[in-house]
Amino acid sequence: MSLSLRYIFVVVAVLIAAPVALAGNVSAITVTGDTEHTRITLVADADVPHESFVAEDAGSRKVAVMLPHSIVLSDADTPPPGGAVESYEIRDGEVIFNLTTPMMVSRALDLAPTTVQRQHRLVIDLVRVAPVRFDRAAAQDLEDRQAFVASMAAKRGQGGMSGDFSAARPDQYVIVIDPGHGGKDPGASSHTQKREKAIVLDTSLKLKEILAKNPRYKVHLTRETDVYVDHEDRVSMARDWGADLFISVHADAAGNSGVSGASVYTLSSRGERRVDGTAKTNGWDLPIEDGTPLEVSGILADLIKRETKSNSSIFAGLLIPELAAAGPIVRNSHRQENFFVLLAPDVPAVLLEIGFLTNRSDVVRLSSASGQSKTAAAVARAIDAYFQKRDLLYAAN
Ligand SMILES: [Zn+2]
Repeated sequence: MSLSLRYIFVVVAVLIAAPVALAGNVSAITVTGDTEHTRITLVADADVPHESFVAEDAGSRKVAVMLPHSIVLSDADTPPPGGAVESYEIRDGEVIFNLTTPMMVSRALDLAPTTVQRQHRLVIDLVRVAPVRFDRAAAQDLEDRQAFVASMAAKRGQGGMSGDFSAARPDQYVIVIDPGHGGKDPGASSHTQKREKAIVLDTSLKLKEILAKNPRYKVHLTRETDVYVDHEDRVSMARDWGADLFISVHADAAGNSGVSGASVYTLSSRGERRVDGTAKTNGWDLPIEDGTPLEVSGILADLIKRETKSNSSIFAGLLIPELAAAGPIVRNSHRQENFFVLLAPDVPAVLLEIGFLTNRSDVVRLSSASGQSKTAAAVARAIDAYFQKRDLLYAAN
């Protein structure tokens, strides 16, 4: 066995040995914002694994956040809620937020303590949605919530609710799809006013739908509605979810309207030089155990980054032929760029440009349901091929 392979096993062992989330106490709940965007913040003394569901009960709309923390609040830490939350109730293992307008969770971030904020914070952002959309989601969530409560009860019976229950099972691959732009940032536009932010969201939702059928996958989107999400948050979310693969979905624009087709970007060497600094600024710590000797942790860090880079290229190499079979691709379709969303040191990542909004036939393809489904199916096939390769690699070891 080569030296580098032995280090791979060390990394795997560290990941398994990493402590699972500990249950703790929630000590404050604040709700701010307005009836378009509302932010719920829970402050806790340990990280905050959670699951949230929307629900409808006797005509009133609610968001239920379920978590294994005990909730111990003093009056000082429970200011009256704002935004679209008129009140909330605390029950065993859950907080129910009563809404004045239909809203859905656009993102949830579990933020580790910093030098300024000494405690863990769970930030849940809600965004206003059409009533019909809420009702559909509530019907779906009702089943999911019942299944979840049953599984939690079973876990309790086995002696404890340890573990991050929003996390994937150990046998699942976590795929994070990142629809580019959103909210105040529309991205590129076609001459017919088709917007990149809407096209990439629709395509990403179709991809999620396909992938969700495979029980081996746990799929997350960095946004599921028309909201703006910072680049840092997109990468932080992917890392918090334990992403095995990150795919940012965009649509291109060019001065020359004749240019058409898809392209795939991985991180350029200029981008690679930004990885360490960006990871440090954002607290993207590598899964290396505390107390590991400096020279060993340096080797491990380099190994993780090298593996990440190589896996990103492997995925890009599988994606391009699938895209080519499903539609036009540009010449030199595998490109390198210094994109921020590709900077995580430990998550294989590509940025996919599904086509050009400045090209007439691409606009028709990208904005039609059938064209979007074709693109999504091509990406899903590449994802299947990528993880089949991973399975084989693990089996061989
Ligand atoms: Zn874009």
